Amino acid sequence: MIDEQSFLSLAVRFKAVFLDSYGVIKNYNGLINGAQDTIDFLRKKGIAIRILTNDASRSQEQQAESFSKLGLKGIELHEIVTSGMMAKQFLQDKILSGKIGYLGTENSAHYILQSGLEHISVSDIDLLSIDDISAFVFLDDEGFDWNVDINKTVNLLRRKNIPVIVANSDKLYPVSKNDVAVATGGIAKLVENMLNKKFIHFGKPDSQMFMYAFDELNQFGSFSKNEILMVGDNLNTDILGGNKFGVKTTLVLSGNTSAKDAELQIHASGIIPDFVCPSIMC
Ligand SMILES: [Mg+2]
Repeated sequence: MIDEQSFLSLAVRFKAVFLDSYGVIKNYNGLINGAQDTIDFLRKKGIAIRILTNDASRSQEQQAESFSKLGLKGIELHEIVTSGMMAKQFLQDKILSGKIGYLGTENSAHYILQSGLEHISVSDIDLLSIDDISAFVFLDDEGFDWNVDINKTVNLLRRKNIPVIVANSDKLYPVSKNDVAVATGGIAKLVENMLNKKFIHFGKPDSQMFMYAFDELNQFGSFSKNEILMVGDNLNTDILGGNKFGVKTTLVLSGNTSAKDAELQIHASGIIPDFVCPSIMC
């Protein structure tokens, strides 16, 4: 049996807490019970908070706005780190000419493409004239024709060897108590497997977000890795990422990993959290 413990009594042993968002602070119903009380408690104890989310569909500003709409008060902009921010930075630093092709919605994740270069939806790309396409981004799981545009993406990436960026590596996301939907990382994985190529994935478990949050945090004091606790509901992203980066990890059972499956999943995956808590509530 897994030894579950109280989150609050665990958290006070750390100087900073990295929280995943979906399944930890919020879910398809809105805020998770007690999220505000826990955030307030951590603040009162002087524990720094950063939110590390693989949701690339909203910018930092839009994330902050969405927390506030859900009723979660007092989250500062700099406390939010998204996989989209990392993808955007990469495009800005590395892709300096040509056009960026993308699969996704015109609006939701568009901030990622604001690097100054022209961008073009895969549905508008003419496969006979792709000389100027210099990178491709898997942006979002909506806003395109799954049959036509995914096939077109496969053909574009067969013909042209360019950096391919996956803004959110999550393969699935929960849409209700029992159901999931295919996320952009799932589509990217499919194309990657078919083409035998390696795309550039942003988001947990990759280390960029952890590194960014760690560096940003250390502008506010001196934090070593063993003084930081990563809290997440997903073994393959949150816990694996935290373990690889070298911070302590807590699996919460309020989202992706249910109490009845946790032990089996930990055993089967070999991804072992340092702690397990029912939720961040108490
Ligand atoms: Mg999650």
